[in-house]
Amino acid sequence: MCSKAESVQAEVREIFESIQGEGILIGIRQLFVRFARCNLSCVYCDTPTGVAENCINHVTGETVRNPVSGEYVASFFNAKVHSICFTGGEPLLYADFIAELPEIRPFYLETNMSLPEEAKKLRHVDFVAGDFKVREALLVEESYEELFENTVKCFRVLKNKRNRLTFCKFVLPEKFDSGEVINSAESIKDYVCCFVLQPVFGVGRLDAVIKLQKELVDIRDTRIIPQVHKYLGVL
Ligand code: SF4
Repeated sequence: MCSKAESVQAEVREIFESIQGEGILIGIRQLFVRFARCNLSCVYCDTPTGVAENCINHVTGETVRNPVSGEYVASFFNAKVHSICFTGGEPLLYADFIAELPEIRPFYLETNMSLPEEAKKLRHVDFVAGDFKVREALLVEESYEELFENTVKCFRVLKNKRNRLTFCKFVLPEKFDSGEVINSAESIKDYVCCFVLQPVFGVGRLDAVIKLQKELVDIRDTRIIPQVHKYLGVL
């Protein structure tokens, strides 16, 4: 008879160890599980979001055929990493898979916060780095109102609490509407420990981001944090 972790499978693009390069836990060592596919299309996306026939395992140097089992992924959880980072693509597309994994190390979820019903399936999540997409991030703008509502619901489901640290990340392209960001922040301020303003890598002028920070600190702690792994040139 198979264990639960053996019975669920997922399309994983790659497995690797590196440092966390974004958000308030920058620098911690993590095992990254990067899932294939995403339900959104962002103008600044820097990861492949399509099908992944194979899973590239940088820990062992092997390439294995997808889908892979939960048991396979869990076999790389180890005590030298601070936590297991589920990223993508969109990891909530694999909520059933994550829910069945043994929580040997803390779970850190990087998500676009668009799938509240999937988020409800997660039994353990210790850290949530949740995006709140700005309208200008999306290639298909007409879906923004629905995405806004789902994002608020998702933050409610995965909210900051005694045994979970949840923060909200606004990834800011060169042009964005500060009023809309403030409205978004107001709608989830009770569910997060802080806001992170992350300018898209390579965006030169930060005046508008600094101005926005001055407004958001009245609502909740707000930090400007770039993608440090890109400056360091690591995965
Ligand atoms: S949500 Fe993330 S992975 Fe998906 S398209 Fe946007 S940036 Fe890419």
